[in-house]
Amino acid sequence: MTEKYMKVQRIENGTVIDHIPAGRALDVLSILKVAEGLPMSILVNAHSKLAGRKDILKVEDLELTRDEVNRVALIAPEATINIIRDGEVAEKFRVEAPKRVQNVVRCSNPNCISNQKEPVVPEVRLAAEAPHRYVCAYCEREVDDLSGHLCS
Ligand SMILES: [Zn+2]
Repeated sequence: MTEKYMKVQRIENGTVIDHIPAGRALDVLSILKVAEGLPMSILVNAHSKLAGRKDILKVEDLELTRDEVNRVALIAPEATINIIRDGEVAEKFRVEAPKRVQNVVRCSNPNCISNQKEPVVPEVRLAAEAPHRYVCAYCEREVDDLSGHLCS
């Protein structure tokens, strides 16, 4: 065996989400419902020059839209997105924290109307950037643990 062992297989077409905080790849995946059922690989606790450790998620045969990738910013604000076409990086960009997001994060206030049995869609809005903070669009309570309040 003289060939270097490849930790993660290259993909021909798809999306690579890099610089996910270590241990958060599965949270990112749960946000990206469009990726369900597609072939993918997850690298957990990879070495990172910048952060020490990071996760990487590769989804084959899927090009995420800006709207979809920006949801990733909720729990991976430093993530970079690489769109792969024919084995080459066709596009590369940073995620941007979305101003408003529906159906991704639940309010942390149990008395909020969005947590009652009302037909109300959970929605959070960006209240501050760098680092970003999100508040409930209904009761204004800050959701300080975003990955702990993901909608199922
Ligand atoms: Zn609320």
